[in-house]
Order: sequence, then structure tokens, then C-alpha cells
Amino acid sequence: MSTAARFFIDGEFRAAGQVQPVIEAATGEPLGDGASAAEADIDAAVAAARSALAGWQSTSPDHRAEVLTAFAAALDQRARGTDELVTRENGMPMSLSRGANGRFPAALLRYYAQLITETPIEDIRPSMIGHTVVRREAIGVVAAIVPWNYPQALAAFKLAPALAAGCTVVLKAAPETALDALVFAEAAAEAGLPRGVLNIVPGGAVAGAYLVAHPGVDKVTFTGSTAAGRTIGEVCGRLLRPVTLELGGKSAAIILDDANLDATMKGLRAASFVNNGQTCHLSSRILAPRSRYDEVLGALVEMVGELKVGDPLDMSTDIGPLVSARQRDRVLGYIESGKDSSAKLIAGGSVPADQKRGWFVSPTVFADVDNSDRIAQEEIFGPVLAVIPYDGDDEAIALANDSEFGLAGTVWSTDDERATEVARAVRTGTIGINDYQLDFRAPFGGVKASGVGRELGPEGLDAFFALKSIYRVGPAADR
Ligand code: NAD
Repeated sequence: MSTAARFFIDGEFRAAGQVQPVIEAATGEPLGDGASAAEADIDAAVAAARSALAGWQSTSPDHRAEVLTAFAAALDQRARGTDELVTRENGMPMSLSRGANGRFPAALLRYYAQLITETPIEDIRPSMIGHTVVRREAIGVVAAIVPWNYPQALAAFKLAPALAAGCTVVLKAAPETALDALVFAEAAAEAGLPRGVLNIVPGGAVAGAYLVAHPGVDKVTFTGSTAAGRTIGEVCGRLLRPVTLELGGKSAAIILDDANLDATMKGLRAASFVNNGQTCHLSSRILAPRSRYDEVLGALVEMVGELKVGDPLDMSTDIGPLVSARQRDRVLGYIESGKDSSAKLIAGGSVPADQKRGWFVSPTVFADVDNSDRIAQEEIFGPVLAVIPYDGDDEAIALANDSEFGLAGTVWSTDDERATEVARAVRTGTIGINDYQLDFRAPFGGVKASGVGRELGPEGLDAFFALKSIYRVGPAADR
């Protein structure tokens, strides 16, 4: 694709008046100019989405499913370039990017294309005066704001159900990943999405805030930090505007005392480090049974030592660079705070000596961490683990729950039933047993400071409907 700075508004590519350079994470070199939306660009995008709404929401679910299926096919054709582009932008290892940026968005579009054809737009319920027709109507113009860590997948979490429900969308991509967002535009144009149904305006936090409060928006769906989510929630509260918030996490991996440590370490490579630690659902606190504490520490040090750090474009790389110098410095700041605490650094703890360019940080493990330490309570968003010892399952559960966040978690055990009992007691939106893999047929989201609402599954589609009850007198026989 062309990397010229462009917006996609009302079915057309428009040259951006303001640009912001996108920097390649592994080299620190400029990759291209990203479009950076000004207020006038957001106004134009919202106006286009508003004009397209009546037409799109009145199409049949079957028609929308057909268009979304064509959209998915157009994304599939671009998948092998999209994955590489995102890897250059944000440092995601190619082995992950192939699926997360290449294949996943199309798969999710197909899922919601199918689901919308199976979802009753109206259902009838008996009432005291006769019957009620309960209608699902598109909620309207959607402002979708996404971060840079999984830019294609997280945009798809929002676009796929919103478009299936009959909503029109203004997508604000993050400045770090402004280039790949336009892949959606090219695919939408090729697939014949009617003009204005999807509009794409990369830009920064100021543009995002302007979009959230825009009078032409009916619903906000946001993925990003808890700090930004709180601000957006406040604005939407004042406006009484429906909002879905997918925010940060500080999830626990509870290693039970019967765990198979070989299998646990294989699983934790992804569950605790996927995407260089820049993943909201990581198990970044490791709760280790005191009876096997030294064994767990030894296994972790060995596993971390085997992680291959380097060029994210190399399919064998496990850990690539962080997205930006700012993010690297933030993570190094947390590592310093760990070194200043009573915790013990047992792996990593600095920039790898052989990485002279880009924003790399070595996979890092602190042992003997107190759960009240900053490195156990705050989301670091880098490859840094905090190991905390515990005695007994009850203490493990209490420690897991002693967090501002509640997005994810994992339980590791040779007894699935015991692990599931522990999982039931953890206050979280999602949790994995001996693995952590999102299931796009099931709701995803957080409790506490990890967010409000759910994405994915049928619940993710519901978030884009407004419900209307039509009370009718008499029996429903005529319907
Ligand atoms: P961020 O909140 O700074 O930015 C996210 C997006 O929001 C960007 O597009 C940004 O431009 C925009 N933005 C920032 N402030 C805004 C405001 N006040 N109003 C409107 N838009 C605003 O987050 P980040 O550092 O880019 O991303 C990392 C964070 O995202 C982490 O905390 C991570 O846990 C979270 N995240 C959560 C999930 C989830 O599903 N729960 C998934 C991925 C990432």
C-alpha cells in the first residue's frame, strides 16, 4: 500500500493537512508519514458517517453480511503486507503479526457477517395487554478509538460488529500505527462498502478527545489505557453517551502446587510475554507456591533465557522492540523502581547489549516481589514479570484479586477442575486454564479499572444495538 499521509472520508482518500512521522520500532528510522487529524477532518468524517447511516442501517442483514464477506476477502488479499507493516510500526514479532494483523480481522468480519444473519432483529414476547415487539436497531454513528499494540485486531473488534449491526463508523487509529489503518480503507473501497459507512482518521489524543465529545456521535468504543478511559468515561457520562471501555490490566498467573512446570513455562512464554509484553491481558504477576518457589524461579529464569530477542521481522524472534522510545523509557523506569524495592532481579533488567538501534528491553523477572510494590500494582506494558510467593490456594486468590484491575489471568495445574474452581474465585473478565487464548465467540473485557462493557461474541454485537419495545394490544397471531 502507499504510505502517503491520507484519511479515508466519505469513500475517498484525502491528503492530510497535518502529518506525524511513523517510526520503525526496530531501527528508530522513519517509516512514513502518518495522517494526523485536525478538528475539520473529524467533522468531515462524522458528517459522512451521519449521512450514510440511514441507508446502511436500512439494508438487510443478509446484504450487510455479503458486503462484510467481500470486505474480509479484500483484507485477506492484503494480509501478507499488513502483517509486515504493523511489525515495522510497533515491533510485534512476525510470528504473531501473521495471525493478529494478517488473518484475524477477516476472520472476525466473517464471524459477525454470519452472526448478523442469525440474530433476530425483532422478537415477540407475551405481555399483560397482548404482546411486545422487541427491536434491535443500529445504535448510530460509532466513534472507535484504538491503541497501537494490536492495531488491526482491535480495530476489527469494533468495526466488524458495528458494521454488521448497521452502524456507521469513524475509526481513530493511534499515531504510532497510522499507516496500517489505511489498509481497512483500501479493502473497504474495493469491497464496495457504501461511502461514509467507514471513515478512518488517524490522529493523537487531542483528535480522539474531540471525536469522543462530537455532537454527531451516538456511541463511543475505546481500547487503551485506564487513564484515557477514565477521561472518556467522564465525558460520555456527562453527555449520557453509551460507551464501551477496554482498558489496562495487571493479571495474575496462579501456578498451583500441582502444576507441571515444563508445560507451565511453555504456556507462559505467550501468556506473560506475547507482543513483547505490550498486551493488555498478560499474566504479568506470577503467583508461585512457596512449597515449589525455588523450582518456579529456576524454571522462569531458564525459560526467559531461551527467549530470542531481536529483529521482529524474523519469524523465529520471540521478543521484538517496544513501540517507541517513550514506551521503552517508561518500562526502564519501572525496572529501576523494581531495583529500588526489596524485590530481587533474577533475569534481564536492561537494554540488551547487542541491540544498538530501536527500542529493545530484555525480558526481565523480579522475584520476592511484594504485591503492594509499584511493579506488582501498575501496568508496565513491557516484558517485565513480578514473582510473588504464596501459601495455599486462598492466599493465591486473595493476591490475584488484590489489584485495581480485572481483565484476565491464568491458572496452571494438572487438575482442570481444581484450576477452574480457582478461576471462578478470581474477580476478572477473562481467565485461562493452562493457556490463555482469546475466543472470539465469547465475550472479552474487564471488571474494575479494566473497563466497562464487553467485545466479541454475540455480546459484542449487542453493544451496537439500541433496543426498542413496541407494546401492542391483543395476540401476536397476525405476525
Ligand atoms: P492510550 O490510552 O494513551 O491511547 C489509546 C488510544 O486512545 C490512542 O488512539 C490515543 O490517541 C487515544 N487517546 C488517548 N487519550 C485520549 C482521550 N483523552 N480521548 C480520546 N482518545 C484518546 O493508550 P496506549 O498507551 O496507546 O495503549 C496502551 C494501553 O491500552 C494499555 O494500558 C493497555 O492495557 C490498553 N489496552 C487494553 C486492551 C483491552 O482490550 N482491554 C487492549 C489493548 C490495549
